[in-house]
Amino acid sequence: MRLILFGPPGVGKGTQAKLLAEEFGVGHISTGDMLRAAVTAGTELGKKAKAIMHAGHLVPDDVMIAIVREVLSTPENKHGFILDGFPRTLAQAKALSKILDDLKINDYKVVNFELDDDDIVRRLSNRLVCRQDGKIFNADLDGVTLGTPCPSCGGELYQRDDDKEETVRKRLKVYHTTTAPVIEYYKAGGVVVNIDGNSSVDVVNREIKMMV
Ligand code: AMP
Repeated sequence: MRLILFGPPGVGKGTQAKLLAEEFGVGHISTGDMLRAAVTAGTELGKKAKAIMHAGHLVPDDVMIAIVREVLSTPENKHGFILDGFPRTLAQAKALSKILDDLKINDYKVVNFELDDDDIVRRLSNRLVCRQDGKIFNADLDGVTLGTPCPSCGGELYQRDDDKEETVRKRLKVYHTTTAPVIEYYKAGGVVVNIDGNSSVDVVNREIKMMV
């Protein structure tokens, strides 16, 4: 199982990545989670990334490519991975091809999640994340709110700094101008599977497993 989850923010990549990683016993590599952990830990990377993420912009390619090269080269990810949030630029996609070539990996699929901007804004303004186990909830659908304990582990739920509407709009702009065109690079390679991000978590999960 080697998957690259591609699509706009808030489309369900993180939720599906966690489920699939658990089901198939492979690593979930989320560049966003790695950056947030670095910000919380106050590392050099975190200090560099914090303002960029807060503004809804992209962290420079060279930084991201070095991180992904390192993590994909670890023994834990040798037999499979779910890559979530990378690549986001054509330069990252080309660098990823080189990394996978160097690791002699050629059996991967790109899962392309599709969803309208209005649905994304609605979802992200309703998204709460558990500080403890990282699970993602929808305030409306899951009946939780800030202050409710995490339904799965009892941890504290919070709203991501960059899920405020103004930042979401900026992230979507970056997605449409810089990230979305990258799918053409993969379409040319015939490795893309399209998924309707509007379906329920269970349906999307089943579809991905049927199609990859
Ligand atoms: P995510 O959790 O995937 O939505 O990522 C949150 C933020 O982290 C993004 O809005 C970017 O600022 C940054 N980020 C995550 N992955 C990348 C990437 N591959 N390239 C550049 N910036 C990234």
